[in-house]
Amino acid sequence: MPDAPDLVDRIDDLLPQTQCTRCGYPACRPYAEAIAIGAADINRCPPGGEATLATLARMLDRDPPALDTARGLPGPLRVAHIDERACIGCTLCISACPVDAIIGAPKRMHDVLGTLCSGCDLCVEPCPVDCIVMVPAGREWTPADASAARARHAARDHPLAKKRWVGAADLAPEHLLLYTSRPEESFLLRRVLAPASLVPARVSFIMLTEAMIELARAGTGVGVLPRWSAQRAIASGAVVALSITRRGMRRHWVAATLSAQEDPPFMTDFIDLLAERASPVRSGVRESA
Ligand code: SF4
Ligand code: SF4
Ligand code: SF4
Repeated sequence: MPDAPDLVDRIDDLLPQTQCTRCGYPACRPYAEAIAIGAADINRCPPGGEATLATLARMLDRDPPALDTARGLPGPLRVAHIDERACIGCTLCISACPVDAIIGAPKRMHDVLGTLCSGCDLCVEPCPVDCIVMVPAGREWTPADASAARARHAARDHPLAKKRWVGAADLAPEHLLLYTSRPEESFLLRRVLAPASLVPARVSFIMLTEAMIELARAGTGVGVLPRWSAQRAIASGAVVALSITRRGMRRHWVAATLSAQEDPPFMTDFIDLLAERASPVRSGVRESA
């Protein structure tokens, strides 16, 4: 008989990872834990249906009981669809989605990323204007979908997400996503981890903000970015922003342009963005010969 943690992993691997809660547990993993200790029967997962039930029974070397249809009926995958004309941008659906399949910002229209939606329908009931409906997905829920959904669900439940700020000891065990091409350019490594004599367990250098946000959102690492650069993702609830150290870390930005040359539009846009979002802002012009 395998030991309990190993058994939980093996049971969890067989569950569909839609995180729909129909089994009566808050997610697939707690249900796996309940099965492992004999606190729940193996017939409570409608998304898994007869196939998952049979596989669980085989793995646990027992006869499969009848599927508990009181918890829902198995059926083809359906995904959520938002009527964008009716959406008021309240963000309640984002908070309800266990796998971060909804994008949007406060007071803006929201949308479901159909390839990520697990069909759990947990976003339908909280919508105050009933503008979310479940529609046929036209595809099957695959093991790759299950794996991605588990990672996205785990990212929402990341232990650091519950903290108010993080320090060197919190960050060192993580896979850090840094916006730089070399370790010596990273202010986090130089100013936070090195003084504490800590090195991160794993580092990836990714000089693309959107990619870092998506990787963090998928639960593959912890992105280190200025708060203003991820403002939309933070406002939408897609990621959680934490200060580095109790007092936070501030950076001093300086934009220098050539007075003899017209600034390209991307440069003026960038300077405007900094002035708008980075704070406190001190602006001024100093010309040199
Ligand atoms: S897919 Fe839904 S019903 Fe099945 S184990 Fe996961 S949370 Fe429970
Ligand atoms: S979008 Fe809705 S139905 Fe799809 S996974 Fe999120 S909460 Fe579930
Ligand atoms: S809960 Fe409904 S109204 Fe609110 S953001 Fe989501 S889809 Fe729009």
